[in-house]
Amino acid sequence: MTYDLAVIGAGPAGASATIEAAKAGLDTVLIDEQRAAGGQVWRAKGPAIKAAPATPEGKTGDRLRAALAAVTADRHFSARVWDIERHTDGFRISAISPTGALTIETRAVLLAGGAQERVFAVPGWTLPGVIGLGAATALMKEQLVLPGNRVIVAGVGPLLSFVAHEIIRNGGKVAAVVDLNPLSVWLRCLPDLIGSPGLLVRGAWWRLRLWAAGVAYFHECGIRSIEGDRAVSRVTIGAVDANWCPLGAATQTYDADAVCLGHGLAPATEASRLLGADHQYDGGQGGWKPVTDDVGRTTVPGLFVAGDGAGVQGAAAAQLQGRISALAIAEDLGLLTTREWRRRSAPLILRIGKAQRFGRAMTALTIPRPGLIEAIAPDTLVCRCEGLSRHDIEAEIRAGANWPNAIKSGTRCGMGPCGGRYCTETVTELACRITGKTPGEFGIPTARPPLRPVPIGCLSGEFDYDDLPIPPPAPL
Ligand SMILES: Cc1cc2nc3c(=O)[nH]c(=O)nc-3n(C[C@H](O)[C@H](O)[C@H](O)COP(=O)(O)OP(=O)(O)OC[C@H]3O[C@@H](n4cnc5c(N)ncnc54)[C@H](O)[C@@H]3O)c2cc1C
Repeated sequence: MTYDLAVIGAGPAGASATIEAAKAGLDTVLIDEQRAAGGQVWRAKGPAIKAAPATPEGKTGDRLRAALAAVTADRHFSARVWDIERHTDGFRISAISPTGALTIETRAVLLAGGAQERVFAVPGWTLPGVIGLGAATALMKEQLVLPGNRVIVAGVGPLLSFVAHEIIRNGGKVAAVVDLNPLSVWLRCLPDLIGSPGLLVRGAWWRLRLWAAGVAYFHECGIRSIEGDRAVSRVTIGAVDANWCPLGAATQTYDADAVCLGHGLAPATEASRLLGADHQYDGGQGGWKPVTDDVGRTTVPGLFVAGDGAGVQGAAAAQLQGRISALAIAEDLGLLTTREWRRRSAPLILRIGKAQRFGRAMTALTIPRPGLIEAIAPDTLVCRCEGLSRHDIEAEIRAGANWPNAIKSGTRCGMGPCGGRYCTETVTELACRITGKTPGEFGIPTARPPLRPVPIGCLSGEFDYDDLPIPPPAPL
């Protein structure tokens, strides 16, 4: 069977798009590598903690999951999409599901794969006990597991307060929150936040709870080093200037057994790059993102993108974008008249501006500044999968590798299991510093399958070694 629409990702964007598409009469299939819909922000609780009281995010996720269950659409959870090919009639999607390999034919694809964490290297960041801010939210929401017993929460952006608040709420201890931004930067974005009072009040509440719990919150400070023999045991912090460059001597050392570290989010573009869509650099939306029109149409016919994967703007905007894209796809495929598309999409388009304003203001807080690079020592690992230090990467750039694929083929940087998700941003900033290019001029590496690690058996299928044809020996 060929579907009208395959939606990849069941977060706010993808799940809402699936509901809207099914209501518009599209034969839709939804695929997500998580066990249930909800994405990163409204992640479903794991089976071991089903009885734990629901959080506000959990309740919103439950409503979304109930709405999804009420529509007719095929869905595959715990299924990882590892390849997408375009052919004359549409797309072929390859995924691995718990029941084995999955091949899906579809006329249109909506990519709703969300964002990926941006973590810039600091000395000691590869020690066990250091995890991303986003990963910490996943750990606590899905497993109710704390990142550590005494945690340093560091980096930039709104996840700082949220993660610290969740650690305290779940009974953990936060040694300190270390925010590269000054308080004034937060206050300056207040006018953009007032349009979404619910979210603004939640953010203020997290800060208040941290203050009431006596958690030290340092603005204009960054991590100088993370130390420990086999795992994190000490973290040293120090002041930074307006460019986040270390300023003066380190000020304080904390005993800690975990560090939650994050420098914002970047759109996950591996699938749109694999399909050859045009991309553009927009620091205010997390960096490289596919070029789209207002409804998420990319430059590849039949390929749409919605949510954080189209530019990081937060859950509220993602949800509306997903619905708008689904309606546009229904119109493109002839299931909705233009009049009906206008009638259904108009109220969504009216609401999206406010949501985008909030999300973009939060993303703007995390635009990388030069200090992130200054804090990396020459021997600090940048590409942890391939064991490459700052020195190794810079040597390759100075030897003439002045675009991403050249660095990749010269050093294997970005060719390990993470597929470049952890190192690409740092490498880009290092290269821009040396070459004088902007990130947009420097470019982004080519994406290749597999998009996710694939067991070799999935590619080869079932076979018996005895069936392998063995050519006759060559004559002597
Ligand atoms: C790690 C992380 C944690 C975050 N935590 C929070 C938070 O606590 N609070 C908050 O406000 N914002 C959080 N964010 C930001 C938040 O994700 C977004 O603003 C919002 O959820 C975006 O919605 P979305 O639908 O675009 O993407 P997401 O919610 O990220 O959903 C994308 C979905 O796509 C799926 N997916 C991606 N690639 C594939 C593939 N190849 N195969 C199958 N499935 C795939 C993922 O499993 C995921 O469920 C987090 C982001 C990240 C990266």
